[in-house]
Amino acid sequence: MRYISTRGQSAALSFEEILLSGPAPDGGLYMPDVWPRIDMARIRITPGMDITQLTWSILALFAGAPDWNRSIERATREAHERFSDKHIAPLRELGPHRWLLELFHGPTLAFKDFALQILAPLMNEALARRKSRALVIAATSGDTGAAAVAALASQSNIDLIVLHPKGRISDVQRRQMTTTTATNVRNIAIEGTFDDAQALVKQLFADRAFAAKHRLAAINSINWVRIAVQSAYYVAACLALKKEQNDKLSFSIPSGNFGNAFAGYVAKKIGAPIGKLIVATNVNDGLATAIAEGKYARGPTHATLSPAMDIQVASNFERMLFEANGRDPAIVRALMDGFAKTGSLRLHPAAHAVLRDVFSANRVLDSETVATMKIVHRQTGLQLDPHTAVGLTATRILGETEDVVTLATAHPAKFLEAVHIATGVKPELPEPLRWILTASERYDTLPNDAAALRDYVEKGAR
Ligand SMILES: *Cc1c(COP(=O)(O)O)cnc(C)c1O
Repeated sequence: MRYISTRGQSAALSFEEILLSGPAPDGGLYMPDVWPRIDMARIRITPGMDITQLTWSILALFAGAPDWNRSIERATREAHERFSDKHIAPLRELGPHRWLLELFHGPTLAFKDFALQILAPLMNEALARRKSRALVIAATSGDTGAAAVAALASQSNIDLIVLHPKGRISDVQRRQMTTTTATNVRNIAIEGTFDDAQALVKQLFADRAFAAKHRLAAINSINWVRIAVQSAYYVAACLALKKEQNDKLSFSIPSGNFGNAFAGYVAKKIGAPIGKLIVATNVNDGLATAIAEGKYARGPTHATLSPAMDIQVASNFERMLFEANGRDPAIVRALMDGFAKTGSLRLHPAAHAVLRDVFSANRVLDSETVATMKIVHRQTGLQLDPHTAVGLTATRILGETEDVVTLATAHPAKFLEAVHIATGVKPELPEPLRWILTASERYDTLPNDAAALRDYVEKGAR
């Protein structure tokens, strides 16, 4: 498989190369040059096809590199051994036509573990094959950072710097990162929002000389491996609920950077019988507006109860622009250049139609999120984290008899305060994580300034 840039002005790369690369040099994102297909009918009748086998099979399909197959299989098996639920991504029936897909049984209690636990050892191996090292720089709205720290702390060829927006993530999220004792990990609190932190990282990558000198690598959801791995649990849910092409399953996805929702599109593209993909947002509704109205604009970011979704500029949206515009890189270039200059873009009607055909959108207020958490707790005794509650609330736009799976993206204990306020009951942090509540923290604080970050990287260079 070859990977091409959404902006069409960079050379195509191999799977091994995209394991290690951030955005393409032309500013675009890498996409597979063709869509592979899975045969749902055949997979369904394969005895013992579990989510582990499904995940490595799909990733191997996207790798298209036989010399990586064994490593992909091993990385997936070892990753899933670190999950606390033997079903890895269990489906929980909430009521008629409504399920939760629990994606929070990994080591850091959020769905980010699915991809990062697999990506990290593969990156480390790609570096070993090249006798090289990399410096991963990641911006986090909370959960990516924790998942990256957990996944990369044991990788011998990788150093990690994580930027989080100061004071805008939960205590548990921050402590999961800042209590690490791994010597290859450094944390930075940026005085700004997640969008600011993400923009800083993008600026470092955009400086080709700097990026090459420090061997910068990315693990944000712009990394294709993350998208490919996440597409597997959509396929698994379709298989588990025995969906056929004429009996489709819809999903509601609590969305921020649009990585998870785009993974749903990928699952549909490779053959899963998926109906609607509901992009659920909080008041930071840039994506919802783009889907509903065809206009995508950079707006101010507001702090909400679902901080991992406090994002207005969703990095993966460019991938969907590429798809919706018939994979024409000239159109993507024009749209993204316009967006960089004016802070907004308008989709061509035909592209908007493609978007609306695949996605629906719904914007959920904090008050509605809390109401959903309360109702579900009262009716079922179940505690939802606020992100999952946004997703579940958004299913209101589908008919009551339509089957829809809400992705449960985080464990309620990651958002103790919000869950406590909504349900009156404080969720317990699972035992293996309790030590972080009292361990000492280690992080540096930097202003929202690219020069300061550059300087920080220079000073810490090996
Ligand atoms: C990252 C995250 C999201 C948003 O996912 P995207 O792929 O960025 O759209 C939603 N919920 C939780 C709990 C997250 O950690």
